[in-house]
Amino acid sequence: MKAAQISRAGGDWELVERDIPEPGAGQVRVKVEACGICHSDVLVKDGLWPGLQYPRIPGHESAGRIDAVGNNVTAWTMGQRVGVGWHGYHCFVCEPCRRGDFAMCINRKVTGIDFDGGYAEYMIVSTTALAALPDEVPAEEAGPFMCAGVTVYNALRNSGARAGDVVAIHGVGGLGHLGVQYARQMGFETVAINRGNDKESLARELGAHHYIDATATDVVAQLQKLGGARVILATAPSAAAISPLVDGLSPSGLLLVPAAPAEPLSINVFSLIMRRSSVAGWYSGTARDSQDTLEFSTLTNVHPMIEKYPLERVAEAYEQMHSGKVRFRVVLTIGQ
Ligand SMILES: [Zn+2]
Ligand SMILES: [Zn+2]
Repeated sequence: MKAAQISRAGGDWELVERDIPEPGAGQVRVKVEACGICHSDVLVKDGLWPGLQYPRIPGHESAGRIDAVGNNVTAWTMGQRVGVGWHGYHCFVCEPCRRGDFAMCINRKVTGIDFDGGYAEYMIVSTTALAALPDEVPAEEAGPFMCAGVTVYNALRNSGARAGDVVAIHGVGGLGHLGVQYARQMGFETVAINRGNDKESLARELGAHHYIDATATDVVAQLQKLGGARVILATAPSAAAISPLVDGLSPSGLLLVPAAPAEPLSINVFSLIMRRSSVAGWYSGTARDSQDTLEFSTLTNVHPMIEKYPLERVAEAYEQMHSGKVRFRVVLTIGQ
């Protein structure tokens, strides 16, 4: 099979031929049709994940069809369309798993990091990592839902915000353009915050009721004019931009951070105390959360905006993703 791999930290993309792998017990083989490129793929490319084994095929935004089924697989069938995301495995026996918190499994594995991912014609996947893909979702759109999509969807639906609450999406990029759509579809008074006004009309088309240009106006004052945000989902990984946002929260508001800035946040705790507000991280979700994301997106007509490249042009596609010029996710098409 054709695959794109990285063989050392900081190495270049290599297009290689590999043997088609066989699924073991509790696993299936997926014939991959598309795989999104995520900013987190830098963890493999630049060797930023402790204990990462090379060579590694990255890719945790995959979609395709099951084309071989291992032993002890009962709920998944040959030919079934599936998505495979960041959540690659959970063990069912550790303490968090015994409490049903599979995303926090202490033996969890990440697709394309702890084992080979979807930058290949075939991949081996644990059934704990499979999301059933609705017929309406094309493979290349499914990819971004499997990491970017589930992360913001799951963050928002677990944020405690209720219909009608002010929810602000900070950053209208790969995560944020989905976040704006989900916030609107979940019934929140949706605020999009971005630098400049070139994304204002798009943000409004995606469902934002309000748009705040962070370069032209005081973001905190604008949020407080709306009564403060019950939730701010910070998708632009800039510590300098995120930290002051706590002053834009409502009482008991929540600043939710699903994408890690390189620098630590610098938070005014007095502001947190006076509003009884909080700051929290958000960790992706399980395969079932991803399936919920796919189903909700189908139901509500949420779509990722993508640029497509064939697998053979992975190096160029990856550069495009990291240039920040892309609108908004890059997806590799494989064998199509
Ligand atoms: Zn990702
Ligand atoms: Zn576990």
